Amino acid sequence: MALVNAKEMLNKAKAGHYAVGQFNINNLEWTKAILLTAQEMNSPVILGVSEGAGKYMCGYNTVVGMVKGMIETLNITVPVALHLDHGSYEGAKACIEAGFSSIMFDGSHYPIDENIAKTKELVAICEEKGLSIEAEVGSIGGEEDGVVGAGECADPDECKMIADLGVTMLAAGIGNIHGKYPANWAGLSFETLAAVQEKTGTMPLVLHGGTGIPADMIKKAISLGVSKINVNTECQLAFQEATRKYIEAGKDLEGKGFDPRKLLAPGVEAIKATVKEKIELFGSANKA
Ligand SMILES: [Zn+2]
Repeated sequence: MALVNAKEMLNKAKAGHYAVGQFNINNLEWTKAILLTAQEMNSPVILGVSEGAGKYMCGYNTVVGMVKGMIETLNITVPVALHLDHGSYEGAKACIEAGFSSIMFDGSHYPIDENIAKTKELVAICEEKGLSIEAEVGSIGGEEDGVVGAGECADPDECKMIADLGVTMLAAGIGNIHGKYPANWAGLSFETLAAVQEKTGTMPLVLHGGTGIPADMIKKAISLGVSKINVNTECQLAFQEATRKYIEAGKDLEGKGFDPRKLLAPGVEAIKATVKEKIELFGSANKA
């Protein structure tokens, strides 16, 4: 199956009261693990690429080539969207050019008027080229590629203004943060989420910073209109823990244990297990 934009899968998710996972990729192993697990679970999936990860993977053209090649060679038949995560205005344009099927324009750090003007322009380009587009209102806390947000709650009226520009999906800050949650985290603001959903109607809402949010909060967020949940750090932690165990057990010193295909295998299995667990929690299994 060719890459698809995220519109149909997210509209179906919103109507069906489940969420589609966005799993961020870092390299070949990450991409393969996520695609194989989505296929095994018969779930639609969104591959997220931050600008930093795009640079790391040698540019957006390389990413598009790798993902398209894998979809073909691994016989992936579930819907796959390739999505720019937290894109700048310039990054969004570069990904549209390179063949991504979806972009996020993170204009949350611009004054609302400028965010609107730039979002409008990108909405028109995406419409013409058949891409989906995500916008963000209210910055999401924590650090993402060097951008530190304070984790404020979005203004529901601003959310409506941005939703009305014709974006496909909307990320609203509701106290969620990127990375690990601190012990004194106040939790998600369901009051804000309910108000945003009230104003934006059928618009699929996006929850960033999905790592470490308790399962009951995830389920409640889905019941209040969240249809896309971003997971990044959790796969990184799973990969790190499995790789550490392999090396601490001295397995890299046994036989051909130094072979990268062996050395990275436990980490890949750990990513698969994490993605599987999330797809089950989000309810997108068998929704392909
Ligand atoms: Zn994010």
